[in-house]
Amino acid sequence: MKVRVRAAELGHGEPEHHIVSVGGRALTVMLRRGARRTLSLRVDERGPRVDAPTDAALDSIEGFVRAHADWIHRHVARIAQARTEAAIEIADGTRLAVFGKPCAVRLVTGRRAAAWCDDDREMAVLSVPAASPLPALERVIRTHARQWFEQRVRFHCERLGEPSPPVALSSARRRWGSCSRRSGIRLHWKLALLPVDLADYVVAHEVAHLREMNHSSRFWALVARLYPDFRSARAALRARAGCLPEFVIAAGPGGTPGDMSQ
Ligand SMILES: [Zn+2]
Repeated sequence: MKVRVRAAELGHGEPEHHIVSVGGRALTVMLRRGARRTLSLRVDERGPRVDAPTDAALDSIEGFVRAHADWIHRHVARIAQARTEAAIEIADGTRLAVFGKPCAVRLVTGRRAAAWCDDDREMAVLSVPAASPLPALERVIRTHARQWFEQRVRFHCERLGEPSPPVALSSARRRWGSCSRRSGIRLHWKLALLPVDLADYVVAHEVAHLREMNHSSRFWALVARLYPDFRSARAALRARAGCLPEFVIAAGPGGTPGDMSQ
């Protein structure tokens, strides 16, 4: 009982901000204490995080952070760079590829809803309201994504001889897809903005889970049947981990809401 109270006081399992002075500069890390024996350090898109034993002394935690400060700064910079690369600036005339289909974004004044105009042309046109383009763009891509995913899930299911499960869109922070026997397959709508073969790999991966709810060698053999080049797709997806494509309003000549110079 005592131990549980003490653990709660120390914020067991709940990360908290901790500031470490490194060479006179403040470095903020998330610190989480828990039932473990060693200190560990990771950096993801939420920033640096230290996992520490419940009773580890702050001095030793701070020494650990200082010893790895260069490594932390390198990884934080790499993630910031990946995030910049994942930003898609939206302006009138922006070119996108949605599941590999070239699209031009048109900002239209006076329009409320978005429209996807395709007509089998080389380039589809996505008309979105100039006043609030980003939510409309997301909606129109989601609608398209649902149809695309349903069709690819059906395709892969037929090859496995499985009935097609329900398909839903997700916007999870850290997963491209998931599969459950009860609720079916969920796929991230932003897969639409990745190279089309990567999106299809995620569909094949989740369909293979309908047979094997694990990542055993039997599972990977099924994936290989559906998507032979799965290793390179996995590596490419991992390289983008934590940095989903993000629409941002392009900077205009008059500055943007994010412009701090004023
Ligand atoms: Zn999986």
